[in-house]
Amino acid sequence: MLATRCPHCGQPQDFRPQSFGTTVRCRACTRWFPLPETPPAPPPPRKRSAFWVVLAALAVPALTCGLCCGGVGAVIGIQKQQQARAIAEADQLYADGEREEAVARYKNLFATVPADGRAEVVRRIVEHELGKGDAEEAERWLQRGLDDGLKLTFDSPAAKELLARAQRQREERGEELPAQKQAKKKRGFRPGKGPVPRE
Ligand SMILES: [Zn+2]
Repeated sequence: MLATRCPHCGQPQDFRPQSFGTTVRCRACTRWFPLPETPPAPPPPRKRSAFWVVLAALAVPALTCGLCCGGVGAVIGIQKQQQARAIAEADQLYADGEREEAVARYKNLFATVPADGRAEVVRRIVEHELGKGDAEEAERWLQRGLDDGLKLTFDSPAAKELLARAQRQREERGEELPAQKQAKKKRGFRPGKGPVPRE
């Protein structure tokens, strides 16, 4: 059955597809009217409205958030405040002598520690781990500090020695690397492409 409207009274009517192209009688007002050859096209799928519904669903919270708290910038601002507070708590624990707990927190928070505080945090972690006798963990954090390009300074002789050794190793490696590269260049080495092909 296909729907159309009576041109006289406007009532919606259903007719069989084979009735289209003939004259039919309206069931409401009993007047005759011709049905067009081609049945009316089915209503288009409501894709567009679904699109707008989705857009609205996304836009409304974004807009609301943007209005009430200044948007993403404010969210980041709040996160930074929370991070700064967490670091301040760790500093307080350290100052109170709760060094085990403070160092555990520093490790978790390290990625959020501001650049100007990182060298000090590394110093605290390294010296604490050395004091506990965990030289491996101490060196791991010292290397991390060096990887970050921090200017590390230590108070304890053990930490100073560890730093001097790590820096020496890095210098030796640093001298080796450019020399190796040069040697490879001279031999016509092309990284990832194998030897130079002969024409
Ligand atoms: Zn009618």
